[in-house]
Amino acid sequence: MNVIHLSAECYPVAKVGGLGDVVGALPKYLCKAGVNASVVLPYYNRKFVQENSFDLEFKSSINVGKQVFDYQILKESKGQLGFDLFLIYIPRLLDRPEIYSYPDEIEQFIAFQICFLDWIVKSGNKPDIIHCHDHHTGLVPFLILHAYPFKSLANIATVCTIHNAEYQGCLGWDKIDLLPEFDRSKSDLLNWDTCINSLATSIKCSKKFTTVSPSYLEELSQKSSGLERLFKEQKQKGLGIINGIDTEVWDPEQDHLIYKNYSIETLIEGKEQNKKQLCEGFGLEPQKPLFIFIGRLVTEKGADLLAETINTSLETLKDQLNILVLGSGNPITEKELSKIKSKHSKHYGLHIGYNEELAHQMYAGADFLLMPSRVEPCGLNQLYALRYGTIPIVHKTGGLKDTVIDIENKEGYGLSFETLSIENIVHSIERAISLFANREKLVKTRKKMMALNFSWDKSSKEYIKLYENLLSG
Ligand code: ADP
Repeated sequence: MNVIHLSAECYPVAKVGGLGDVVGALPKYLCKAGVNASVVLPYYNRKFVQENSFDLEFKSSINVGKQVFDYQILKESKGQLGFDLFLIYIPRLLDRPEIYSYPDEIEQFIAFQICFLDWIVKSGNKPDIIHCHDHHTGLVPFLILHAYPFKSLANIATVCTIHNAEYQGCLGWDKIDLLPEFDRSKSDLLNWDTCINSLATSIKCSKKFTTVSPSYLEELSQKSSGLERLFKEQKQKGLGIINGIDTEVWDPEQDHLIYKNYSIETLIEGKEQNKKQLCEGFGLEPQKPLFIFIGRLVTEKGADLLAETINTSLETLKDQLNILVLGSGNPITEKELSKIKSKHSKHYGLHIGYNEELAHQMYAGADFLLMPSRVEPCGLNQLYALRYGTIPIVHKTGGLKDTVIDIENKEGYGLSFETLSIENIVHSIERAISLFANREKLVKTRKKMMALNFSWDKSSKEYIKLYENLLSG
């Protein structure tokens, strides 16, 4: 079975968040299970691309509106990622350092999708399944079915996975001429709320759509930034599959980015040494419980509540804890978080920016991970934390609800709260401090978490079942 994954992100080539992690791991685990999975990504002028070699696989040209673009398909030479990686290179359009946020982003991703389909048609290398990720690739299922140049692909099954429905790839109808000629009687499939909505189009036109957790699928019918009715209508086509983690990248026993490797057996000493090193770097006191937050500083993640939560905790709980934050995003939130430093320098650390290495060191060295997300399609941070023996504290929403069971339950291992409020987060921090003081229970909980299996070995099987059903039906 040949499956092509089409995405804007793929770790370690280009990652902003969970999308990158998933597309860098799922195809690898699919290949291990015997599926011929590959990834097609825009060419980014970034570290991985600069430092590795690529072979020219194909070249041709496409039209995007009135413009003609030459393009090349480049294949990573060594097969070092565990799957074939193809980059679409379009000089001056797809050869830039950043992944998102260029003023001509719409043209970039339309060209990416057209190039991909053009290559498949002209090379005759048809996959059995095209798996699209998020709105950047959301027009592909429509173009396959209704654009005249790609009619020969109409029988290929398409799956789209929604990693985040907040971002929908909306464009005005004035951009319609950027698309290749298509059956205009099908224009309605592109439309949602008077715009061309790429995410809505992918849900309508793909054979099946998936979300990255079952609870998120349920929630989208209630709350999805305008797509609620669509999710209700299309419910029978939807399937929630919880993300896995790449246990080769996220493994405290092998992780070369952390200070001291450790296993379930050596967890006490291992975590202690990682914590000591981390605390030293930020001037924190290693004997106190260390709480961390890692992520995009946006309201979806509850980052707007962080500054007040941290101030309240550090003031009311006095010197009982340390908090360390890594992230970037909303400038107001960044400023508020920066201000705390002058008041609580001994118990608070902050790194504004994106830092993969520090993230690994924090999962390894911390005691508790805070995830006060308003919306969490799956959440990978809590899964990494579990594997590194760091206890997650989560708002019960989306994938957090599906993966973290409160310690009050017999089979529980994390801390969770129903309603998102500063009061409830602070209360959970108090519960965590009590747990930290109960050494025996703390170690037992950590061991239990580290033994859990959230690997892609498990979740990739569900995708295989889905592909097989599509091909047999
Ligand atoms: P998102 O909604 O951002 O995709 P996920 O929980 O699915 O959230 O995935 C977040 C991924 O991005 C994790 O691998 C996390 O460690 C990483 N990450 C987020 N922010 C940062 C940062 N500032 N520095 C390093 N890694 C980060």
